[in-house]
Amino acid sequence: MKECIVLGSGNAFNSDARGHCCFLLDEIFLIDCGPTVLIKREEFKIDFSKIKIILITHFHGDHFAGVPFLILYFQYILKRKEKLYILGPENIKKQYDSLMDLIYPNLQIDFSLEFIEIQEDYDFEEYHIKAIPMLHKEESLGYRINDSQNSFAFTGDTKWNDNIISLFKDVDVAIIELSFKEKIENSSHLSLEELRQYRNKIQPKKLFFNHLYDELSKEVEDLTKENFNFGTPLYDGMKIHF
Ligand SMILES: [Zn+2]
Repeated sequence: MKECIVLGSGNAFNSDARGHCCFLLDEIFLIDCGPTVLIKREEFKIDFSKIKIILITHFHGDHFAGVPFLILYFQYILKRKEKLYILGPENIKKQYDSLMDLIYPNLQIDFSLEFIEIQEDYDFEEYHIKAIPMLHKEESLGYRINDSQNSFAFTGDTKWNDNIISLFKDVDVAIIELSFKEKIENSSHLSLEELRQYRNKIQPKKLFFNHLYDELSKEVEDLTKENFNFGTPLYDGMKIHF
C-alpha cells in the first residue's frame, strides 16, 4: 500500500467547510462516498480513473449519498467502460437501487456494477478486506485492508466498542471517527473524552481522526503535543503515506 488521500474529513454538517467522509486508497479503493465527493475531487485535482471498488461503511447520507454523483461522473465525464465493484453491508444493492431510482431514475450506464455484500472477508486482487461490525447503525462495518506489505483500517462512524481494538491491532494506518469533545449519552459517535480514556487499548502504528471540525482538530493537536503518541487529526486534501 502506498497512499491514502483524504477527500472528506468532516461530519454530516460540513463544519468548517470539510467534505463528507471519503478516502481514496492506492487510487483504486474509494472508501465511503459522501455527497461532496466531486467538489473535493475538483478542489484537489484527484484522478478517479483508476477507481475499481467502492467500500461503504453504512448507509447514512454523508457516507453513501455521493455514489449517484460518482456514477454520473464515471458515465459522462470519464466515459468509463470497466466494471465497478460496490462493496458494503447487507442490502447494498437494494440501497443503491432505491437511491438511484429516487434521484436519477432510468439512468443508463455503459459499465457494469457488481455488488458485494461482505460478510467477513473478501479478497480483491492482491488485497484482503476484512469487515468488522461497529456500533452506529444496525448495518455499520469497519474495514481492515491488507496487502503483502501494509495494512489500513477505518471504523466508519461508531460509538466505542471492543471490536475497535481488534480492528486496529498492529495496523499501519488507522482512522477512527471523532465527533465531539465531551461524551454525549446515547450518542452513536465517539468523543475525545472517551478516546482519551481508551487510547491505550488501541494499538495501531499510526492513528488518525476524522469526522471532526477545526476546533476539535486543535484539541487533538494540543493533546498530541503533550502525549507524543495520541494521534493526528485529518484535514481535506491530506495524503497519508505508508
Ligand atoms: Zn453515520
